[in-house]
Amino acid sequence: MAEQQFKYVILGGGVAAGYAAREFAKQGVKPGDLAIISKEAVCLILLSLYLVRAASCSWFSLSAVAPYERPALSKAYLFPEGTARLPGFHVCVGSGGERLLPEWYKEKGIELILSTELVKVDLSSKTLVRCSWENFQVSNFNHCNWFHRTLKYELPFFFFPQVIRLSDFGVQGADVKNIFYLREIDDADKLVEAIKTKKNGKAVIVGGGYIGLELSAALRINNIDVSMVYPEPWCMPRLFTAGIAAFYEGYYANKGVKIIKGTVAVGFTADSNGEVKEVQLKDGRVLEADIVVVGVGGRPLTSLVKGQLEEEKGGIKTDAFFKTSVPDVYAVGDVATFPLKLYNEIRRVEHVDHARKSAEQAVKAIKASEEGKTIDEYDYLPYFYSRAFDLSWQFYGDNVGDTVLFGDSDPASPTHKFGTYWIKDGKVVGAFLESGTPEENKAIAKVARVQPPVDNLDVLSKEGIAFASKI
Ligand SMILES: Cc1cc2nc3c(=O)[nH]c(=O)nc-3n(C[C@H](O)[C@H](O)[C@H](O)COP(=O)(O)OP(=O)(O)OC[C@H]3O[C@@H](n4cnc5c(N)ncnc54)[C@H](O)[C@@H]3O)c2cc1C
Repeated sequence: MAEQQFKYVILGGGVAAGYAAREFAKQGVKPGDLAIISKEAVCLILLSLYLVRAASCSWFSLSAVAPYERPALSKAYLFPEGTARLPGFHVCVGSGGERLLPEWYKEKGIELILSTELVKVDLSSKTLVRCSWENFQVSNFNHCNWFHRTLKYELPFFFFPQVIRLSDFGVQGADVKNIFYLREIDDADKLVEAIKTKKNGKAVIVGGGYIGLELSAALRINNIDVSMVYPEPWCMPRLFTAGIAAFYEGYYANKGVKIIKGTVAVGFTADSNGEVKEVQLKDGRVLEADIVVVGVGGRPLTSLVKGQLEEEKGGIKTDAFFKTSVPDVYAVGDVATFPLKLYNEIRRVEHVDHARKSAEQAVKAIKASEEGKTIDEYDYLPYFYSRAFDLSWQFYGDNVGDTVLFGDSDPASPTHKFGTYWIKDGKVVGAFLESGTPEENKAIAKVARVQPPVDNLDVLSKEGIAFASKI
């Protein structure tokens, strides 16, 4: 059985992995010291010569994918025009940085071990087992979400978020054809193919979070007849207030998206080809569908390290340097439950900005500890954004306490621009802005960080964005 050794190993080849690799390179990692192991691959259809063998999988080939900016998958990747495709959105373009192409990793001597699924992670023997059943002996299982260390080496260890599937809840018919999930580029390719095959067809989007909202918009832009179904009284209830949601629901309705609230999908029926035909709702309604896309959230795949690392709030518990409970194993990105200093709480954050920044923090901490130095604790200001149709919003801070809506939130208004402040203990702790300019978005970020006192909510509502611009 072939065995390979690395000083640092990053497990998972997503956003955090790419930003960690860039930071390792900045810190002067030596060629051969760092590897990224990831299962991600895209299916390429080979020459038509093989089409007669369509039933067999031999007409597909797997092509490995270096780390890329995952948010593109639910946005421009699905657009009929101005479509985003790799290598256009490899990390780190999402934060305005250099685009790291596969050649970049080669030049730096960073090994990309792609199309490789890890099936066993043993932190005590510092051994990783991949799908092909070859072992990677790792020294110094250093960092989890990613990193580890064995003997005198480290192993960055970045973990794997995965989507929640309806089959996890035993939903009837959840495995029929043309029901899609969106986490990886291969999922997005399958959806693009279905959009082409089911031209002008009907789609049901299950879930009213930001993925559901972005996907509904993308499918509508492709001229698909879209219905969105979610159980809550309004969309994106984890962040949106009723006032914010009313704008988006109105805007989507004006674009022709049908919104069905207060119920869930409980079953699917298929046609004679085994493709989805109908979606049955709990309230008894039945929706016709050629395509179903499910966006009901994700969760960290912690099963690979179950019982080996301390977990909390559904993730892998870390300190402010993303060190886990096991020495020299680090976790970053979506899977890390870390101290959010600003609010004196521990939390898990499933957004791209944190994936990037936590990766950089972990690598800096590793390098500092090797040199006997220390770095500042992670002091993160939560930031989240989304884009759909011609809309674009940003949110900074914490969405707790009283709320104040400001601006023009009429979905029919051609000059819509509005926002919301969250006020707790007399201070503004969170700010949301739709259609802000870069300067205005910077201003709301500052408000959320500074937490200015406010005593009159009516005045705050009237001032709106002008309040933030003064801080
Ligand atoms: C469609 C979509 C749109 C998004 N849009 C936004 C947005 O607009 N704004 C925002 O703030 N955030 C957005 N996010 C969230 C953001 O992309 C994540 O927070 C970010 O990707 C987390 O980075 P990560 O490195 O922790 O995980 P990921 O980027 O998900 O990377 C995990 C990697 O682990 C690999 N992996 C999993 N299991 C295994 C295994 N067993 N063996 C080997 N490798 C494995 C996967 O293949 C993947 O490469 C979006 C997410 C998705 C899915």
